[in-house]
Amino acid sequence: MNKVQDAVVDMYEQLPVPYGLVRFGVAPDHPEVKNCQDTFEEAAKSPLFNYIGNVRVGYDVELAKMKPHYDAILFSYGASEDKKLGIPGEETKGVYSAREFVGWYNGLPQFQHLAPDLASGDKAVVIGQGNVALDVARILLTPVDKLRHTDITEQALQTLSQSRVKDVKVVGRRGPLQVSFTVKEVRELMHIEDVAFRPVDLLADINPKKLPRVQRRITELLKKGTESLPQGAQRSWGLEFLQSPKSMNATESNQLSSVTFTKQAYAPDADSLSPTASVVSTNETSTLPASFAFRSVGYKSVAIPGFSDLGIPFDTKLGIIPNDPYGRIITSSAGPGNLTAGHLPGLYCAGWVKRGPTGVIASTMADAFTSADVIAEDWNANVPFLNSERSDNRSTGLGWEGVRADVEAKGVRALSWEDWKRIDLAERQRGEKKGKLRDKFGSVEEMLQVLDT
Ligand SMILES: Cc1cc2nc3c(=O)[nH]c(=O)nc-3n(C[C@H](O)[C@H](O)[C@H](O)COP(=O)(O)OP(=O)(O)OC[C@H]3O[C@@H](n4cnc5c(N)ncnc54)[C@H](O)[C@@H]3O)c2cc1C
Repeated sequence: MNKVQDAVVDMYEQLPVPYGLVRFGVAPDHPEVKNCQDTFEEAAKSPLFNYIGNVRVGYDVELAKMKPHYDAILFSYGASEDKKLGIPGEETKGVYSAREFVGWYNGLPQFQHLAPDLASGDKAVVIGQGNVALDVARILLTPVDKLRHTDITEQALQTLSQSRVKDVKVVGRRGPLQVSFTVKEVRELMHIEDVAFRPVDLLADINPKKLPRVQRRITELLKKGTESLPQGAQRSWGLEFLQSPKSMNATESNQLSSVTFTKQAYAPDADSLSPTASVVSTNETSTLPASFAFRSVGYKSVAIPGFSDLGIPFDTKLGIIPNDPYGRIITSSAGPGNLTAGHLPGLYCAGWVKRGPTGVIASTMADAFTSADVIAEDWNANVPFLNSERSDNRSTGLGWEGVRADVEAKGVRALSWEDWKRIDLAERQRGEKKGKLRDKFGSVEEMLQVLDT
C-alpha cells in the first residue's frame, strides 16, 4: 500500500499468531516454503502497519462498527472450512478431513483435541489427489525421526511414533492424467526411506513422451516407482484411480472398517489423456479396507457475520466473495462511479476468499499485490470509498483506535506485532531445547501466557 502516500494498514488476525496456512497448512518438512514469512516481516516493520492479533472480525468486532473508521476494507481471511463428500458414514470414528489432520499436526489450536488413534489400525485411505492429499500421505509414512527437527507439534510426533499405519492408498475420482498433485510432491513420496510405491496398472500402455511436459514428468515418476519393492518394504503407498467414494463403513463400535467406491469410467466423448477428461459412474463398486480415511477434496470459505450490513454478497457455491478479476468486491445491486459496474466502494478481497481455495503462496501473493494495486489506483482516481456518503467524503481515519474500546470491553485482548514477536521468540527458545526450529504453542491461552511472564 506504499503506493498511497501515508496510507495506514491495520491487519486483523483472529489468532494471536500471524501467517495463516503458511504456519498451519504448509507441511512441517517443507521449511523452505515458509521463507515467505521474511517478506511479511519486512512489511510489518513499516510504521504505517499495525498488527491487531487475537481479534476476530465479525465476532470480536462488528464490520458495521469498523466501517466509519476505515476508507477501505480488504478481506483475505482464507478458507476456514472444507468440502464434505456427502456420503453415508462420513462421521464415523477414524474419518478425518485433511484440514483437521493438517491443522492438528501443525499446531492449529482448533484441532489440538483431534487425537487420531493411529495405533488402532494399519490401513489408511486418502480421498483426493491434490498436494494436500500427498502431504497427508507423506506425514503418515515418513519415519518419525525425520520429522523430529521440524516444527511439527510434540503431540503429533508422539502419536506418529506409535502409528501402525503401513499402507496408504490415495484415491481419485478421475484417472492418472487428471491428478492435481505436482511433480515435487510425488518425488518426495518416492524417496521416503523404506516406503514402496505400488505400480499403477493404468499407466502401463501410456507412452510419457507423447504427453505435455507436466503430465510427462508425473507419468515417468509413477512408472518408475520406488527402489523398494512392496513385499520387502516396511510401509507402502499407492494410487487408486477412477473411484468415487460411496460410503464409509463402520464396525459395531462405529470405528471405520472400509470405504466403498463407485467405479468411474471416462465419459464417452472424453480423451483419457486430457487433464480435463470427465468421468461417469458405472454400476460397479469396490471396497477398500481402512481404519482411517482422510477427506482431501478441498477447503471452503464462508461469509463473515455482518457482510449484509455492508451489502457484501457471498457466493456460497464457489465459496468466494464475488469480485472483478482484480479484487474489487462487486454486487449486482450497486454500480457507482466510473468503476467496473457493481463495485462496492472501498471493499476489496484477496487470496483464497477472492478466487477459491486453490493456488500456492506465490500465486496468492501475486493476486494480493493486484488487489493492493487496484486500491491505490482507485484512490488515486478519486472514486468513492467507504463513507463517501458522509459530508467530508472520508472515514474518521481512526482505524483500530475507533473500535478498540468496544473490542476491549468484550474482554478481548488485542495483540501487537511486538506481542507476536515475544510469542515467536518463546516458541523458538522452546524449540531450541528440543533441537527443533520452533515448538509451537497449541492453545491461545498458552500463547497469551507468554505475554504475562
Ligand atoms: C495443507 C496445505 C498445504 C499447503 N502447502 C503449500 C506449499 O507447500 N507451498 C505453497 O506455495 N502453498 C501451499 N499451500 C497454499 C497456501 O497455504 C495458500 O495459497 C495461502 O496460504 C492462502 O492464503 P490466504 O491469505 O488466502 O489464506 P490463509 O493463509 O488461510 O490466511 C487467512 C488468515 O485469516 C485469518 N482469519 C480467518 N477468519 C478471520 C476473521 N474472521 N478475522 C480475522 N482473521 C481471520 C486466519 O486465521 C488466517 O491467518 C498449502 C495449503 C494447504 C491447505
